[in-house]
Amino acid sequence: MKLTTRLVQAGNKTDPVTGAVSTPIHHSATFAHPALGKSTGFDYSRSLNPTRKVLEDAIANLEGGVRGFAFATGMAAVTTLFLLFQPGDHLLVSDDLYGGTYRLLEQVFAGYGLEVTYVNTSDVDAVNSALQANTKGLFIETPTNPLMKISPLPELIRFASEHQLISIVDNTFMTPYLQRPIELGADLVIHSASKYLGGHNDLIAGLVVAKTDELAERVYFLQNSIGAILGPQDCWLLLRGMKTLALRMEKHQQNAQKIAQWLTVQPAIAKVYFPGLLTHEGRDVQLKQAAGFGGMVSFELQTADQVPVLLESVNLITFAESLGGVESLITYPARQTHFDIPEEIRERIGVTSRLLRLSVGIEDADDLIDDLSQALEQVQRRTSK
Ligand SMILES: *Cc1c(COP(=O)(O)O)cnc(C)c1O
Repeated sequence: MKLTTRLVQAGNKTDPVTGAVSTPIHHSATFAHPALGKSTGFDYSRSLNPTRKVLEDAIANLEGGVRGFAFATGMAAVTTLFLLFQPGDHLLVSDDLYGGTYRLLEQVFAGYGLEVTYVNTSDVDAVNSALQANTKGLFIETPTNPLMKISPLPELIRFASEHQLISIVDNTFMTPYLQRPIELGADLVIHSASKYLGGHNDLIAGLVVAKTDELAERVYFLQNSIGAILGPQDCWLLLRGMKTLALRMEKHQQNAQKIAQWLTVQPAIAKVYFPGLLTHEGRDVQLKQAAGFGGMVSFELQTADQVPVLLESVNLITFAESLGGVESLITYPARQTHFDIPEEIRERIGVTSRLLRLSVGIEDADDLIDDLSQALEQVQRRTSK
């Protein structure tokens, strides 16, 4: 069946006793054993919980992998995957990276001997040159956050398998509706489900999908050993959000395309980053490996002192961290999501102090444009010399 149908049907009729259309929330820490050596398949909820299993099966099915895993947060999922590696191992990681993942590598895993090279993964030659004898993994974000750089997944995954690296794709920005890295050969996919999959700015969660049984065994061992699992209530809430993913993504990207095009002709805007723009580098690569451009638009103002004025002036759009929910949010990466990346590195890779990131919601696009338009007028009025 088509992905849209599988999304909507996730969790439907999972309870043969009652026929419940909405999957039941199993708030049980432990499960009775019928007899010694016999089990219902459930023993203890850290190891497996019936509501979590419905969610984990759903995400595995959507991404085309063998098994899914639900975690308390996206960072818990990323942490669990980094623990697949050993002290002394080296990872190649996209240089324009979610700030929390950068912080985790630099301030936590560095202390446990994990070596990292940040590399522009949109350039396969650059990735190749950064390979070391001890390289064991490749971690890719595409499109990147917040610069929307596109990395060629088939080429990178081929490179990883040639060198026996575990390839991991953070698919948060695209969701399986638009991009399925495992179908392109990736070993593992991770999501911050707090974003588009949840979709309503009402929950924090992480998901992982493994391509092979061997990797699934290793991830399961870590999930059960570390225990950073998602609780049953949030598993249900996430499943409930995912049902409308197809409709939401269509509207997100339709609005984003319209707003990005409008932004490009505003005199107050210095630069617009959106893969759906004809001028966006990597647009052709995106068209080959994904079914759309997503709902994230970044743009640069002329000067850094215009940023606070714009953030104060938006009314409909909320100034807040995060992305992927139905409500439009605007974020200042330099001070929020990417604050832990040193300024000099930030500016060099392009996450400047003039850059703002817009998570385009599913409101009426014209209302969003009106809000940005009046905010940009304030910017012009209050900062023009
Ligand atoms: C938000 C985010 C994360 C972290 O997820 P949490 O659910 O906030 O822990 C990881 N990667 C990307 C791309 C994100 O946007």
